[in-house]
Amino acid sequence: MEDYLMYLNGEWTGEGLPKIKVDNPASGEVIATIPKGGEKEARLAVDAAHTAFPAWAALSAYERSAYLRTWFELIRENENELARTMTIEQGKPLKEALGEMRYANGFIEWFAEEGKRVYGETIPASTTNKRLFVHKQPVGVVAAITPWNFPAAMITRKVAPALAAGCTVVIKPAKQTPLTALKLAELAAKAGIPKGVINVITGSAKEIGDTWLADERVRKLTFTGSTEIGKELMRGSADTVKKVSLELGGHAPVIITKHADLDKAVEGTVAAKFRNAGQTCVCSNRIYVQEEVYEAFTKKFTEKVKALRVGDGLAEGTDIGPLIDRNAVEKVEHHVKDAVEKGATVETGGSAKDGLFFEPTVISNVTDDMICMNEETFGPLAPVTKFTDIDEAIRRANDSIYGLAAYVFTENISEGIQIAEGLEYGIVGLNDGLPSTPQAPFGGFKQSGLGREGGRYGIEEFLEVKYISLGL
Ligand code: ADP
Repeated sequence: MEDYLMYLNGEWTGEGLPKIKVDNPASGEVIATIPKGGEKEARLAVDAAHTAFPAWAALSAYERSAYLRTWFELIRENENELARTMTIEQGKPLKEALGEMRYANGFIEWFAEEGKRVYGETIPASTTNKRLFVHKQPVGVVAAITPWNFPAAMITRKVAPALAAGCTVVIKPAKQTPLTALKLAELAAKAGIPKGVINVITGSAKEIGDTWLADERVRKLTFTGSTEIGKELMRGSADTVKKVSLELGGHAPVIITKHADLDKAVEGTVAAKFRNAGQTCVCSNRIYVQEEVYEAFTKKFTEKVKALRVGDGLAEGTDIGPLIDRNAVEKVEHHVKDAVEKGATVETGGSAKDGLFFEPTVISNVTDDMICMNEETFGPLAPVTKFTDIDEAIRRANDSIYGLAAYVFTENISEGIQIAEGLEYGIVGLNDGLPSTPQAPFGGFKQSGLGREGGRYGIEEFLEVKYISLGL
């Protein structure tokens, strides 16, 4: 067991503070402690980021890119150790943790380059004695608050574009998974990223969050987490009129039409559903299958799910690790019980196992009144239901306050495009169960959030537009 410290203004601090335990969800064993920072540490972090901002913003995009590139290389060299840390604190299978490390690092690589393409504009004036210019500048100090389900990617997806744009950041990782974040900070320090540019504060979410919200020097809040907390943070940002980006809950539908290649549909749906034991905001939560292929799909899908192996993420061959905590297990149990009581059939799984493990579960004969069709399960439960025509599928898929990811499987490409266009979702995987990638925009419609991460859209969130009118 190791006592970790937090990273503030280029120093490792927090020795004297109370400690928070971090445990391994696969075994319940305490693996580390982190300091319980609060208002004071949160304020000191903003002091540091605010002090570091002018010099960091004044560097050329090429200089900032070089720092990011070095950070990227160091992460690549240490990816196996980082993945192991992630599995131990978060539970996901090691192969997925390594996949996440590469995906996470992909944001650093991509934004290191994209920072060089922050273009301005000249606008034709209506009189000959003026010249109109548009510049883009970094917004300033950014507060990033991140969840436990992607301990690395949710950080790099925010920090890489922020740094590339010329912003400095204060980060609060989730208390369940702070170790990956602290190790990333350690490598950022090793990469020579100047002190104060990145600060990672651990401790009381409410105290740290409230301090950052109240501080007018924090010009931007970027958050991934629950819709409930996202709304609170948005309200809290109002008094200082911060820019806000939110990546909140999802309730992803999958539409499988009679024109689907069922093997592709099964593979894509399993990938979208069971990654991270179903604990992602883009996990498929509602599977709508056209009646002509409903039986065939359900059978093939169930067979594939039965073959998934549950266990400790460090063990060879594990496909599904533990859930993050007891509440998460109880939520899945509750959703299964409710569905069964309302008439659903359990095709496979259905029960919790010892510890925080839950069997990968498929339920069929699902109806729209069941909780699992209306709330994010955030666990390994796949409800399958039948539809008759495409309009019905689109209507039922859109009947949600969420609008993050949706999936469509069909080999009829014009049908696929029509469905994709009809879906009120920010991301559509058309014959693709894993659409997320650093160079493409990620974000939701409706109450799934505000703004986009990734791609050329992702850096705009950290830039202010300045218009300069020159009178000749
Ligand atoms: P999840 O359900 O995925 O844990 P949360 O929204 O509860 O999602 O948590 C996401 C992040 O928000 C975590 O880092 C958590 O500590 C932080 N958080 C939770 N409550 C608050 C709050 N009141 N103020 C600031 N951050 C918070």
